[in-house]
Amino acid sequence: MANYDNLLANVPTDLWIGGKWKKASDGARFDVIDPATEQKIASVASASTDDAKAALDAAQAAFGPWAAKKPRERGEILRKAYDLIMRDAERLAKLITIENGKALSDSRGEVAYAAEFFRWYAEEGVRNLGQNGMAPSSGARIFVHHKPAGLAVLVTPWNFPAAMATRKIGPALAAGCPVVLKPASETPLTMLALMPILEEAGVPAGVVNVLPSRRSGPVVDAMLHDPRVRVVSFTGSTEVGRKLLHSAADNVLKTAMELGGNAPFIVFEDADIDAAIDGAMVAKMRNMGEACTAANRFYVHERVSDEFSKKLTAKMGSLKMGNGLDDGVALGPLVNKEGLDKVVELVDDAVGKGAKILVGGKKPEGTGYFYPATVLSNVPNSAKMLNEEIFGPVASLQTFKEESEVITRANDTEYGLVAYLYTKDLARGMRVSERLDFGMIGLNRGLVSDPAAPFGGMKQSGIGREGAHEGLQEFLETQYISTTW
Ligand code: NAD
Repeated sequence: MANYDNLLANVPTDLWIGGKWKKASDGARFDVIDPATEQKIASVASASTDDAKAALDAAQAAFGPWAAKKPRERGEILRKAYDLIMRDAERLAKLITIENGKALSDSRGEVAYAAEFFRWYAEEGVRNLGQNGMAPSSGARIFVHHKPAGLAVLVTPWNFPAAMATRKIGPALAAGCPVVLKPASETPLTMLALMPILEEAGVPAGVVNVLPSRRSGPVVDAMLHDPRVRVVSFTGSTEVGRKLLHSAADNVLKTAMELGGNAPFIVFEDADIDAAIDGAMVAKMRNMGEACTAANRFYVHERVSDEFSKKLTAKMGSLKMGNGLDDGVALGPLVNKEGLDKVVELVDDAVGKGAKILVGGKKPEGTGYFYPATVLSNVPNSAKMLNEEIFGPVASLQTFKEESEVITRANDTEYGLVAYLYTKDLARGMRVSERLDFGMIGLNRGLVSDPAAPFGGMKQSGIGREGAHEGLQEFLETQYISTTW
């Protein structure tokens, strides 16, 4: 094992079911690998379908009492969870870096973002308001209120091991729903480490259960076919999201899907180029490009493309690559060999078709799944990276001439998660934003994620929203009572 003993000491590695640590029913375990050293850092229990049933039993037992708590009581537990995560922020950030690879500065940002979902929903859960009115013809009264939707299955990816889970757990708990969470197999430790914190905050046994598993397909499928489950909330690839939508159809579950993206980043000729570069570095390089929100296609007006590409190349070339725990490192390894191979393949494909490498573009020798910050210009329309998520530190540049042309090109994707645009002309910014078919727009900003804002995509980037008041609605059912007197 890599020498992180002091950081990994006391990190739990079993299943968290009904407030207790349990081995898998058949004893199965799997290894967690540090992407910087390619060494095993932990062996984690791998849940079976029997364990999934046990977790749902625990969640069902916890449901009544949790749903019956007053919203303020639930809110205070969530608020305490926020405080405790912030108390333990540095330890959690290091754990994220060890299992995911991202630079410690990114992990620190993630922990703060993850904690905020508990603070936000501590406040939002007490605003689960209904309505009342009168039916215009019959005069009957219409009372509308919102009930907890029921047991929720949460499935999360490896790229934000803390935040993608708390973005679901926070609103589910605020709404009164117990959850069973299946974290990504690459990064199960962060969520396991969070469980004692939630317990300390006062989350009762069975309200949150965590099932790492190498048998994701059967385990999640069994839960989606259990009649007690009413919600599935998934963050991950569009490919897996489609499968879960098929499974969810059988019991007509409420579904929230946060799927893939292919974000355009548009720089108009009147943009503040230095601000656009700062925004580009965040939109492209946060999390080493391993983000659904990562800028995947840069469209730069031909009048400013030389200046933009020179400045971006200089910034990208200055990033220090290395073990994410080391001082000054901005670029850690990618999460695994598969992710690295995909980036290599996409860059080779683009270069083979005529793209020019301005910086990077070559995988270093040695251990670790490292890939350097890379800028490619003249990327041809036929390059695969314009249609697929790169999920790595590679910026692909193209130029454009006309506003209407760039809108058409930006919208030419099955994805619709986020788009970024830079212009000093606010009227143009608003006009173009409204014509872009994306759930979120960064207008002169390279970062849109915020617990107070509705995060989510159009088209094949997803269904539903996380964060804001909308995120709470994903875990509530609307009931209307018709009465008269
Ligand atoms: P993934 O779809 O491979 O896996 C996501 C989760 O689903 C993991 O927990 C995985 O174990 C599980 N899973 C895999 N196959 C499954 C199956 N057949 N049945 C049930 N569960 C299964 O995604 P990933 O590689 O972990 O994450 C990267 C993807 O996530 C990218 O496409 C990225 O864009 C997307 N993502 C989206 C958002 C968003 O909010 N829209 C946020 C982060 C990541």
